[in-house]
Amino acid sequence: MSKIVVKFGGSNLQTQKDIRQILNVVKNYNRPLVVVVSAFYGITNLLEDMLLKARHEDAAIDHSLDDLIALKRDVIFNMITDPVLQKSTLDQVLVRIRELERYLRGVNYIGDIPAFVSDIVMSFGERLSALVLTALLQDRQIDCEEVTPEELHLITDGEYGNAEVDFAESEQAVRKRLSSDKTAIVPGFYGISKENRVTLFGRGGSDYTAASIAHCLQAESLDIWKDVDGFRSADPKLVPDTHGIDRLTYTEAAELAYFGAKILHPRTVEPLMFHNIPIRIFNIANTDRPDYPFTIITSNGKQKADIIKSVTYSDDFCILRLQGPGIGNKPGVLARVTTELDHKNINIKSVITSQTTINFLLSVKDLQPAYCAVKSLSLTVVNNVVTEDDLSLIAGVGEGILETHGIAGRMFGAVSREKINVEIISVGASPVAAYFIVNKKDRDEAVRAIHREFFTLPAGK
Ligand code: ASP
Ligand code: MG
Repeated sequence: MSKIVVKFGGSNLQTQKDIRQILNVVKNYNRPLVVVVSAFYGITNLLEDMLLKARHEDAAIDHSLDDLIALKRDVIFNMITDPVLQKSTLDQVLVRIRELERYLRGVNYIGDIPAFVSDIVMSFGERLSALVLTALLQDRQIDCEEVTPEELHLITDGEYGNAEVDFAESEQAVRKRLSSDKTAIVPGFYGISKENRVTLFGRGGSDYTAASIAHCLQAESLDIWKDVDGFRSADPKLVPDTHGIDRLTYTEAAELAYFGAKILHPRTVEPLMFHNIPIRIFNIANTDRPDYPFTIITSNGKQKADIIKSVTYSDDFCILRLQGPGIGNKPGVLARVTTELDHKNINIKSVITSQTTINFLLSVKDLQPAYCAVKSLSLTVVNNVVTEDDLSLIAGVGEGILETHGIAGRMFGAVSREKINVEIISVGASPVAAYFIVNKKDRDEAVRAIHREFFTLPAGK
């Protein structure tokens, strides 16, 4: 029978009530599953914080580990009924926490955090949650076992902090290991390099783990459970009358995630497109309608009459601007800058050029290192290098944006009627997205203006 891969995120693992809901959801599927889990809510941040403190403070390690043990004990003793299973689960949890402790003491000893250690330490949130969830399901008589990425042979390209799955190496082994009718509980967020090192898929990467496994199994679907109603026409915190989106294409979902919608890891759709495996997004608060996903993502989501399905934003964009007369058509400038940024491991999110300027859109954390890198090149054609932060990128996303006359114009018209100054506009870089950059203080108004323009229907869907 073809499998369904089901993913639960940290927001589904916050309280014991949340965990009970997960157990019910798994039970209600009433068929063998592959369940991919994130760390319990807030634990990955806690591990990151532990790493930083461990560098200088030995005592901080004890405090943090005590907190972690207390949290796990609480779940184990309150939620597992079988005393034998309680004890064996706690023992296994303690073995993993002692292993984590050894890495943290090592960091303290050397006063440094090598990349490979950072990735191992951060993976412990998932290693612990998968172990505990497996025991909780076993306690409820669900035939299941924990299967780690090591056992799965989920092999990556080896890049720390931002790895991707090597499908040629992984596919057969993953399929073989998951061929039985037992439900498998898999810790998300990491895979193993060919050198046998733990490598993370980036923050929020459990979605990508689940998608990769779904690809290897040619699964029936990837079901992602959230605590919200899937994708919406805008962030409900900014816009009062948003609408749910029932259908999206892979490209639309990828662009929305890339431009800031926090529903999916931006790379989730990549492994699924090849076999056209649908992503179904459910809200755990609505388990009475388990047959009803809020958003379904496939290759052929229907086009909306006036195109824009969602308007999203991200504050993690800033500009590094190189100025000089004729810089836009001097050969070699772009190549030298991009090579230098690549050497420094700085990801360029977008490049927009004109005759007199080259604008690099970067992540906020990369702006200063990129500025120094470009300055160090002493490019003769560049008169000035300036940085701009405090910006927000606003994107309208919808299949057909490129071919349909006037859509981008309506977006920018709506914003300019609010007298908002637009820094940079880009249309055409993606077939389904148009975006522009405004000052952060104008972000909310810009999002609302575009939403008003394209969504005039009453609230609800
Ligand atoms: N626990 C990891 C994070 O917080 C991965 C995930 O939740 O998907 O980023
Ligand atoms: Mg997450």
